[in-house]
Amino acid sequence: ATAFAGRRVAVFGLGGSGLSTVRSLVAGGAAVLAFDDSMDAVAKAEAEGLPTGDLRAADFGTFDSLVLAPGVPLTHPAPHWSVQRAQAAGVEIIGDVEIFCRERRAIAPDAPFVAITGTNGKSTTTALIAHVLRSAGWDVQMGGNIGVAVLDLAPPAANRVHVVECSSYQIDLAPTLDPTVGVMLNLSEDHLERHGAMENYAAIKERLVARSGTAVVGRDDAFARAMAERIGGEGGRVVAISETDPLNLSRARALRGAHNVQNASAALAAARALGLPDEATFDGFASFPGLAHRMEEVPGPGRTTFINDSKATNADSAEKALASFEKVFWILGGKPKTGGVEALVPLFGRVTKAYLIGEASAAFAKTLAAHGVPHAELGTIERATEAAASDAEASGEAEPVVLFSPACASFDQFRNFEQRGEAFRRAVQALDAR
Ligand code: ADP
Repeated sequence: ATAFAGRRVAVFGLGGSGLSTVRSLVAGGAAVLAFDDSMDAVAKAEAEGLPTGDLRAADFGTFDSLVLAPGVPLTHPAPHWSVQRAQAAGVEIIGDVEIFCRERRAIAPDAPFVAITGTNGKSTTTALIAHVLRSAGWDVQMGGNIGVAVLDLAPPAANRVHVVECSSYQIDLAPTLDPTVGVMLNLSEDHLERHGAMENYAAIKERLVARSGTAVVGRDDAFARAMAERIGGEGGRVVAISETDPLNLSRARALRGAHNVQNASAALAAARALGLPDEATFDGFASFPGLAHRMEEVPGPGRTTFINDSKATNADSAEKALASFEKVFWILGGKPKTGGVEALVPLFGRVTKAYLIGEASAAFAKTLAAHGVPHAELGTIERATEAAASDAEASGEAEPVVLFSPACASFDQFRNFEQRGEAFRRAVQALDAR
């Protein structure tokens, strides 16, 4: 990043995106001191010839900036020591998205840049926008909180568009975030452990659209609506989008469900702002393959449709999945979140039978029983998949659906939601072999 040439920058956190930050700063001529609490991480950076050193012993007054990698606590449970020392020394604290923004302004200020945030649907919308533009022949660089770290992407250029998913954390550390198009999909109370109060979380998310050329903001929840109103009235800069917008998505198999209308509506607004004709956008919707583990159709035997929604780690996401089908054989469970599946009670009428796995089993069984939903506690994803598939085939329904939308974190039985989704995919494949 040439925008930092000659500046003295401390980098804390040498995981994936931290390393790409160091490489990019060094290549751009910054004087960097890279550090991590993990000596393994430091050794790895050293082996690459990157400039490491002991940040704990450094005089913070000599730095122009401190760059933090994702996961370093800014506020909760307590701010990281590097944050405290930078603040005490009056050193700015930024992240990789901020470096990208400054670089773009320095080398290609007209390069189109789309930034996406929200509580749910970020990755889907980011991938959808990238796919639509790519299908129309554009040079697209996609990354950020999804896939490739933003500083590992090709640099901004006039004929190249960057489509960047931003977590709250990345927005918080990007004080001059100024995308051509900012997309803020929705806000619900998920990641509050990290951000404290909802108001604070909302204020951080709002910064993504506050300085964007076009602001695409959801109007389906109260927080997003309030945000659209606050930043609205600025000469048509704000486009409000909704899951009730009249979009024809009948050709788009990977965009089932009302929540995907919200995502597609956001993508349409972003594409319009960049000057893409609607026809090209809808062609892109039709050929969008969808993302793995998000309402992903996985091939299986018989008449049954199998849906892998392993990414649904909370009730809010699982609600969208349930709402996308009339009737389901539902596999759920894992490490439960506060509130369990109480919020899903209004959708229980769609559940023919539920198959429970993991730590949440007993508690969820109680909730299901209280509402008269047939259910079985099966322990593992393999047994649950077998039972659900066999009930689905035996049901006599013309097109039965087995939905794996766990409404829980995966950590009780799996490393992450990806591994959990792969386990479901294998369990479905194993059915074939019986
Ligand atoms: P994120 O990147 O924000 O975590 P994803 O696109 O990966 O979101 O989708 C995660 C899950 O959230 C999906 O499995 C789906 O069930 C649900 N979801 C997707 N889009 C939305 C939306 N616009 N509103 C609410 N839930 C959504």
